[in-house]
Amino acid sequence: MPKHENKQNGKDEKNSKIKYKYEISNEKFFINPYTFLKVSKTVNREEKEQPLESHTGVFVCRIYPKTPLLIPDVFKKKEIVDRKEKNTKNKEIKHFSYPFFRLGDNPVIPGSSIRGPLRSVYEALTDSCYSTARSGQYITARTKSPFLPGLLIKEKGKWELHSATRYLLPMKDYGARPFDKGKIFKYKEVINNYGGRVYFKRELKYIENRRGRRIPQYRVLDTSEIKEPGYEEGYYYIGEYINKKKYESIFKEKRIESDDSEVIEKCFEQLKEIQKKYMDDKINQKFVSPREPGNKDHHGGYKQVDLKKFEEANDAVLPIWYKKNTNKDKKVEYYFSLANIGRFRYETSLDEILGKQDDGRMQDDGRMPCHDVKKLCKACSLFGMVGDEEGFGSHIRITDAIFDGNIDKAIKTYNLTELRTPHPSYLPFYADVNDYSLGYDAAECNIKGRKFYRHFIPDYEALRSLDIKKIDSKMEGIGEGSFKFKVYFENLTQEQLDELATLLCLGENNKDGNLCFKLGHGKPLGFGSAKIVIESLEERNFNNCIADENEGAQEYYKYTKKIYSDLEKWNIHKEELSDMQKSIEAMRSILDISVFTNLDANTKVAYPYVVDKRKDKSQTPSKNDLASSKWFSENLKLGGDRPRYILNSSSTDINEQKLPVMELKEDEKRK
Ligand SMILES: [Zn+2]
Repeated sequence: MPKHENKQNGKDEKNSKIKYKYEISNEKFFINPYTFLKVSKTVNREEKEQPLESHTGVFVCRIYPKTPLLIPDVFKKKEIVDRKEKNTKNKEIKHFSYPFFRLGDNPVIPGSSIRGPLRSVYEALTDSCYSTARSGQYITARTKSPFLPGLLIKEKGKWELHSATRYLLPMKDYGARPFDKGKIFKYKEVINNYGGRVYFKRELKYIENRRGRRIPQYRVLDTSEIKEPGYEEGYYYIGEYINKKKYESIFKEKRIESDDSEVIEKCFEQLKEIQKKYMDDKINQKFVSPREPGNKDHHGGYKQVDLKKFEEANDAVLPIWYKKNTNKDKKVEYYFSLANIGRFRYETSLDEILGKQDDGRMQDDGRMPCHDVKKLCKACSLFGMVGDEEGFGSHIRITDAIFDGNIDKAIKTYNLTELRTPHPSYLPFYADVNDYSLGYDAAECNIKGRKFYRHFIPDYEALRSLDIKKIDSKMEGIGEGSFKFKVYFENLTQEQLDELATLLCLGENNKDGNLCFKLGHGKPLGFGSAKIVIESLEERNFNNCIADENEGAQEYYKYTKKIYSDLEKWNIHKEELSDMQKSIEAMRSILDISVFTNLDANTKVAYPYVVDKRKDKSQTPSKNDLASSKWFSENLKLGGDRPRYILNSSSTDINEQKLPVMELKEDEKRK
């Protein structure tokens, strides 16, 4: 090898960090804590009158915890004093310890915490609507391929999209140096100028990138407020600060991309929604206002972009980033973004996705919540319709469940790690799709099914010995004894009564049974598995009804108590399964706590994760290198244009459900 080449390599090695690579593990596997139940895309809605021989009465039930139930009392939380943390805004984050919810001295599970899980299982068992889906929801995602610089131009109220060239504006506050013969610019001079017109002196230089390829660099050398000879017209684009950023930009118009005013206006609506997300500190954890220049942990939520002002103006220019896609029908679609690597919104709303039936047609409300009182799914006719003015009352009322047992012995405190918010943009897990570049906008795309958390035993030892820095909260939980509650019902048909009873005990009225619900907090960590058992059923029977002219109608009735053995008929009998019991059997992978409890030592129920398999661990990898999100991005890279692994629909087959973890290793070749 010639001498000078060696020198070159030596220099590179000194300047660059050790490169990492990711590989699929052959030995470690995970089973995702949530799963999707594949169900029919068609909702059964029936029009029917409630028959006269209706049933009214009460079930007395008991909840037996199989794993600890966490029902935190948020009003009585206490700060964990030895767990202080500064967030990226240098603000102190507090972590809390929550006592179990109580009424008086008694631990209690509120009726609403039982009702929700009962309803979602009943919805799945009966092909009912998705009552938690809200209308007008859109899914946003981070982009994989970069967006192109563009200018939204409004002239006399007509919208056009123009492509643009991005010129780099070196910023002093970011530690940039001026280009040769150029000026350096100050943050405070440009931050309030987003979209503002500017004249600038430019230069095109070819520079060599790391792989030795020549790439063009468009440079700004000087700016002016007035047009001077040799100066061109452009518009300021001010992005968010990201690590190692050196430049802001000036966009210069190139050519018209689209004059379809309607299409462009629609895309502008996406932008507004995206900005809302950026400004929501629940979603954007780096959101801070005002941001400091050059602080990579400060994110201003694109506050510098006044979308409203642009919308209201008749003539205006707005620098944005855009992506062009041609869909299956050869129609061109645009996505707009505020950053070249940012969020964008899928065109297809959740209403449209859930509106589709098996045959692809849209009918009634599809799987969206029922809204017509005369045409209800089974869950809406039993539990009532939600969130509608023309609401249809519920036929059942669930009381709070009161603890019955030795409180001091039963209550223990558990450490919890941070729980995640759902990421429907993780297509390989959430969506059934062939064309991953179009995602939810692909014609065939559908959500994977109904989402449920699996039953499994929490890793108590790992949680107990959790590093204090990883404790997000502490919660009191109850893992023994039982809770007693009642379910009052009114005017049910015989079928509804049978189904309600079968639902409560899941066709297995036995406290040692395996078919359970998930209640309360900490579900992704294995908490909240509970068995419900019916202890008795009392029905109110009308003997007669005497009309009294003075007193109005008076009802005479008595309660008939049914004994435990009468409840046998709602149990699953192998020979003769009713529809409801068959559906429970089909849902066993989600309801049965024994399915994922005896896993081999190399498999655990956990979110996708990365293990550190580097030989040399003297350097600390960044937090991102080992983050769960890395598993998803590497999964996409490994498969080329589609993910290497997808989350299979729920089944009891462990081999079908488990996925390999990723391993972080040194990249010997790229060292
Ligand atoms: Zn419904």
